[in-house]
Amino acid sequence: MADDEMELYCATCRSRETHRALVSRRERRWLRDEIDKAPDGYWMCERPWCRNIRTYLDAEPFDPPLRMPLLD
Ligand SMILES: [Zn+2]
Repeated sequence: MADDEMELYCATCRSRETHRALVSRRERRWLRDEIDKAPDGYWMCERPWCRNIRTYLDAEPFDPPLRMPLLD
């Protein structure tokens, strides 16, 4: 697993899944606009149909869940 990947529980998959850090400029900009604060410390479930966003400590920081759109 790469340095920017981590296995974490995904609340929408209801299982432990590979997550990756949100590091790209476009993803960080999208998330910052959604949550209106610095988009640091967030991880995204890598399953293509999921893309649920969580923090390291909190599996469900958003209600309803927030999913990263495909930005490309
Ligand atoms: Zn998931």
